[in-house]
Amino acid sequence: MDDLRSLEDVLELQLLDSAIDHLLEERQNLPQLERYKAVSRNIEALKRQLSQQQAAADETRLEVQRAQGEMNLVEDKKTFEERRLYAGGMNARLTQNLQMEIEMLGRQIETFEEEILAALDVREQQDKDIEATTALLTEAESDFARLESEISLAWKAIDDEVAKDETKKSQVVPRIDPEILEIYEDMRSRPRELPSVGRLEDDSCGACHLRLSKAEQNKARSSFPPRCVHCRAILVF
Ligand SMILES: [Zn+2]
Repeated sequence: MDDLRSLEDVLELQLLDSAIDHLLEERQNLPQLERYKAVSRNIEALKRQLSQQQAAADETRLEVQRAQGEMNLVEDKKTFEERRLYAGGMNARLTQNLQMEIEMLGRQIETFEEEILAALDVREQQDKDIEATTALLTEAESDFARLESEISLAWKAIDDEVAKDETKKSQVVPRIDPEILEIYEDMRSRPRELPSVGRLEDDSCGACHLRLSKAEQNKARSSFPPRCVHCRAILVF
């Protein structure tokens, strides 16, 4: 295996690895992801709100039905009592009592009517609220679907790029001296701010950018693989 070629190849491997790292980071931090999460939370909140609003509207509907049922009973009673009154044949006191009873039933009916009208007003507002929430939910769900497709397209594009770089890597890796590869992989697996490989240019290490004296360069050159005396990066001459 050509040592110098091997060093060039490990430099290329590093470029591919950092391109892949960059793509994976981009994949994880797509700008749409935050919005996607927010829209998803919003949809959950709107669904909860809608179900509360529907429960409240159902309650009002039952209230109206109950009031109407009770009012019907009172109306029946009033009709019955009115018939008794018109049939006549009662003494003055009973007639007066019956008239008072009928008036009272009439007032009860009015109260029920007011109650029903008020409940219908409430119901109307509740229906408007339900409609508004449903519109917001529909909008949020369409946002969600759009973001989902944007994210999946962006991920697909990134994954395709990663696959291309992985293919290039699979061609580069077999060309690298196993010893250099091991050093490189070992350095990459450790937390390190600097690149693991650097080209020596203008007497400086391409990884840490520090200068190497001629003596330090010669010393590096005499070992295999050459390493930077400052940052231990694999040096490519
Ligand atoms: Zn260095």
